[in-house]
Amino acid sequence: MFSCWYGDANELSVLHQLPLVRDTRCDVVVVGAGIAGMSVAYFLAREGRSVLVLDDGPVGGGMTGLSSAHLSYALEDGYARLEALYGLEGARTAAESHRAGVAIIEDLVARENISCQFLRLDSYLFNPPGQPPANLEIERGAALRAGVEVEWEERVPLESFETGACLRFPDQAQFHPLRYLAGLTQAFLRRGGRVHTQSYVKRAVGGPRPFVETDRGCRVDCSQVVLATNSALKGLTYSSYVMAMRVPPGSVQPALYRDSLPNYHYVRLAPGGASDGSDLLIAGGENHREGQTFPQLFSTLEKWTRRRFPMVGKVDYLWSGQVIRSAEGPACIGPGQEENSYVVSGGSGHGLTHGTIAGPLITDLICGRPNPWARLYAPREFAHAR
Ligand SMILES: Cc1cc2nc3c(=O)[nH]c(=O)nc-3n(C[C@H](O)[C@H](O)[C@H](O)COP(=O)(O)OP(=O)(O)OC[C@H]3O[C@@H](n4cnc5c(N)ncnc54)[C@H](O)[C@@H]3O)c2cc1C
Repeated sequence: MFSCWYGDANELSVLHQLPLVRDTRCDVVVVGAGIAGMSVAYFLAREGRSVLVLDDGPVGGGMTGLSSAHLSYALEDGYARLEALYGLEGARTAAESHRAGVAIIEDLVARENISCQFLRLDSYLFNPPGQPPANLEIERGAALRAGVEVEWEERVPLESFETGACLRFPDQAQFHPLRYLAGLTQAFLRRGGRVHTQSYVKRAVGGPRPFVETDRGCRVDCSQVVLATNSALKGLTYSSYVMAMRVPPGSVQPALYRDSLPNYHYVRLAPGGASDGSDLLIAGGENHREGQTFPQLFSTLEKWTRRRFPMVGKVDYLWSGQVIRSAEGPACIGPGQEENSYVVSGGSGHGLTHGTIAGPLITDLICGRPNPWARLYAPREFAHAR
């Protein structure tokens, strides 16, 4: 019943590498080959470190391959909330780092010649029917204070439903996440990096002599270990639902659309994404706590979408996945509990830019360089222990 639009990862053969079958050593082991692990691995390889990536599935077989692939710094928590929680500096750092996350992806697409349908476009935030725009005005003020460009619009650029006044965040982006990861993996391999898939890590140990062990009994000795498994820290798990539906070419303006509900809806267009060349409308949302999938929520999502986008035709794909939020403080990128260990976790609905931010940030930490984002993302859970 469920299948994801990005398709069978077999189409992208570089995502499948051989399992690790013997003991070895390297400078850094990265556990997890999603966007976070591959970004960290790539940036470290660019510094000349020998890096080995291990994943129990294919590259991108975790949540990266199930994402709806909005690349946005119109952050779902909202700048008003971020400012209240982490102060103006924290909100500015969140904005700056996620903006940089989008720019890093754009730069790597060009530098490494990655074909992944990267596209810059506007993002719109609108209220559900009947809700006055006071919350949007508060959010606009906070976003501007955080250094984010944002403008009022009378409505989203769609004739099919009335949103009333909404916010437009220019210069956001979208891409095809598995094609991007395939290109990033190739670029990493070209720099001498090693990736082993189907290699479950059952022990990852930091300290003075870090090492990891796989379920096949192989051991990798290293100087640092990075856990990019999307689950390393205490977090809150939400399920999110996505459907890809055919729409006639040109019937929906390409943009990122999101409403302001707590279990919010998010929509984008994949031009020419259907097998017959039609555009695909990718609509998601109905988020709820806990990791299980409730199939009836696909019907709720489909109704929501058809009411607002009456031009949608056949449902080609539907899937759901888990979004991990950090329970304590902002999402984490930084030192783990043990010496010489690092973690990336809790990127929630912005995990693609969060995982990308981890690339330069963890590389700076391992190379002993200061990084302006390190303080905001330092794992709070471990701050007292170290
Ligand atoms: C439906 C949905 C829609 C989303 N939409 C967006 C969006 O539009 N924009 C956005 O920015 N984010 C979005 N997200 C969030 C985003 O997809 C994730 O936060 C992000 O992909 C996480 O990347 P990651 O590399 O940290 O984790 P993952 O991609 O999950 O990778 C972790 C990897 O670690 C591996 N692993 C785990 N444990 C082990 C082990 N013991 N041994 C070996 N390997 C292991 C897993 O197999 C996996 O491949 C969405 C998520 C979902 C579910």
